[in-house]
Amino acid sequence: MKIAWWQWLPFWRWRTIGSVSSADEVPQRLPRNAIVLVGDLRHIKWIVFDCPCRTGHRIMLNSDPVRRPYWTLNASSRLGIYPSVDYRGTDRRCHYFVRNGKIIWTKDSDR
Ligand SMILES: [Zn+2]
Repeated sequence: MKIAWWQWLPFWRWRTIGSVSSADEVPQRLPRNAIVLVGDLRHIKWIVFDCPCRTGHRIMLNSDPVRRPYWTLNASSRLGIYPSVDYRGTDRRCHYFVRNGKIIWTKDSDR
């Protein structure tokens, strides 16, 4: 996918910047607060973005109800992801809600 130049401008809120048909087509570098969907809005397979902790790890959330757990993206006026994102790496935990295009960190995250 090609990322439009204006998508690299500093956006305050999280938003989707496009969709691709398979996970290996997601660009290596993503703008800040940008989400790429694998699939399309009617059938999202994966929700992909760089973790808001900014340590450089990527989050891939399954959005296919056939496999669990799965996450739902609400892409109406204000973007939300349900349920919360809870990444547990070897040295850190990133746990947050995405609501109204914003990240709400929980207290149990390593920040
Ligand atoms: Zn993180």
